[in-house]
Amino acid sequence: MRQNTEEYRGVFTFAQQVDGKLSGISLELIGKGKDLAADLNTEVTAVLLGSDIKGLAQELAEYGADRVIVVDDPKLKEYRTEPYTQALAAVINEFKPEIFIIGATAIGRDLGPRVSARVGTGLTADCTQLDIGDYPLVAIAGREQKHNQLLMTRPAFGGNTIATIACPENRPQMATVRPGVMQKKERVAGAKAEVVDFDAKLEENNKYVEILEIVKNTKTTEDIMAAKILVSGGRGVGSAENFKILKDLADALHGTVSCSRAVVDAGWMPKDLQVGQTGKTVRPHLYFAIGISGAIQHLAGMEESDIIIAINKDENAPIFSVADYGIVGDLNKIVPALTEKIKAE
Ligand code: FAD
Repeated sequence: MRQNTEEYRGVFTFAQQVDGKLSGISLELIGKGKDLAADLNTEVTAVLLGSDIKGLAQELAEYGADRVIVVDDPKLKEYRTEPYTQALAAVINEFKPEIFIIGATAIGRDLGPRVSARVGTGLTADCTQLDIGDYPLVAIAGREQKHNQLLMTRPAFGGNTIATIACPENRPQMATVRPGVMQKKERVAGAKAEVVDFDAKLEENNKYVEILEIVKNTKTTEDIMAAKILVSGGRGVGSAENFKILKDLADALHGTVSCSRAVVDAGWMPKDLQVGQTGKTVRPHLYFAIGISGAIQHLAGMEESDIIIAINKDENAPIFSVADYGIVGDLNKIVPALTEKIKAE
């Protein structure tokens, strides 16, 4: 479908909320949206859907939204694919954004592709970087090079390569973005945004899905994305029981335990604690990689940590190439000794 792409203006972000609380990704997207909008000399609009959620607009303003479009409707109380898709498609058709970014959460991964198909554009899923630039990246004879395009970067082929993707013909340019990768801006108390109430004219009855019961997740695993100190273990730890020595170190540091995928696959730790491409992206102040080799898919989730300390018995392990400090040796000796030392301080 050919569009008049000139009609489309502004950077829009999806403000995901659950039970009336904004998800962290909503604020990260506004942070990134502001950088993109500055490059395009335009504004950031957060789109907030739900029931009785208008009060959240102020928080979005304080994190940098210039405008908040609110679709407040009882049909949007809980997340359901169809009414949320209808609402976002209606917002896009009415306001014509140039860029629309959504968090690659469980909700965003469901919603993003449906909305993009509904409005007739493309979507790049699970991006780790977004920039404004030229497409194609280098001029090719006989091919028009377009400027100010959204360049969407994501791992491809199982993380073995990084692809940069553009959507030059259609608008909006849409992407889902991994939580934890982009950074939110400092909160500015009292900052103001234009708040626009929008009636998306949702269908009365949703014919596809009826919610019968909501079963809350009662698991008590800690949120590794919020942790300032992570003590992460890999296959080298050897067993679920041996994770106790990592837990002792984490407790001594007031930190949290996380792990590699090999550990989750072995059934030693729950998936919620997995760091990496198919796990969570973390950015703590301090990241211990203990008995972790440093596969590219693991690095993708932790290499932005402020300080990385690796403990591995193999001095050639790739993890040492990203570590700020490396200790070569047996983790079974080093970790308990470190814990004792820290406790004694
Ligand atoms: P290993 O690679 O087996 O490394 C174990 C390390 O422990 C070794 O370096 C060894 O020298 C060291 N060691 C052993 N014993 C000791 C000891 N006593 N003392 C000190 N060191 C010791 N992986 C992730 O982590 N997260 C992901 O999200 C992820 N997503 C993936 C997605 C795809 C599509 C694919 C194909 C793979 C993915 N992987 C992911 C898997 C990844 O490729 C690696 O297989 C995995 O990270 C390896 O985990 P590991 O480092 O714990 O184990």
